[in-house]
Amino acid sequence: MGRKFFVGGNWKCNGTAEEVKKIVSTLNAGEVPSEDVVEVVVSPPFVFLGLVKGLLKPDFHIAAQNCWVKKGGAFTGEVSAEMLINLGIPWVILGHSERRLILNESNDFVGDKVAYALSQGLKVIACVGETLEQRESGSTMDVVAAQTKAIAERISNWENVVLAYEPVWAIGTGKVASPAQAQEVHFELRKWLQVNTSPEVAATTRIIYGGSVSGANCKELAAQPDVDGFLVGGASLKPEFIDIIKSAEVKKSM
Ligand code: PEP
Repeated sequence: MGRKFFVGGNWKCNGTAEEVKKIVSTLNAGEVPSEDVVEVVVSPPFVFLGLVKGLLKPDFHIAAQNCWVKKGGAFTGEVSAEMLINLGIPWVILGHSERRLILNESNDFVGDKVAYALSQGLKVIACVGETLEQRESGSTMDVVAAQTKAIAERISNWENVVLAYEPVWAIGTGKVASPAQAQEVHFELRKWLQVNTSPEVAATTRIIYGGSVSGANCKELAAQPDVDGFLVGGASLKPEFIDIIKSAEVKKSM
């Protein structure tokens, strides 16, 4: 079975209830390819999960932007995987570079989170990516392989994992990776999965690209053979997110 195109919208720490309602109504009204062509998952801040769940059309799905590393309890300010399941939230984003870098989440910590979230029945968008300094020093593959390894060591089933390659230098900067740069890392990541997990995991795991994806650049990126979709930040708050979802058609016609 082919890898279904995946488009995630990471709303980060943005929005008021009124703005969220507006974004959802734009999404609901958008003419997009059917669910068998593209899987769409939007990720509002925790406080709006219930609101979005109540309003979003059922062929779009919802992700939390984080969850706690183990069972809930005396962890002030955290939200557990069990709570997300209890609320009917099927997805969670883990290992986003903003959490790795600003909140010092280590590879091991992210790996533990991914394993625990999966064990509780969540599906995971697991993010990896190098900083500009790491790219310029030629260590991109070492960095993303180490981040992926910390996950691979802790899980055996990749069915509910989408791997998001998000170069830090491209996030929120308007400096998108070129299609060739994205394809190169996606190809290497798939090869890494082939060698270190299994050929089946490598062939079936979706590797999506994130970093300044827009309505203008999405089609060219989507045409790359190892780019299976996108994780979108800034543009997921705008009507152009619909155009990004539509870029799934590029794959269909390939
Ligand atoms: C992100 O934060 O996951 C992201 C890709 O952001 P942006 O699209 O704004 O670069």
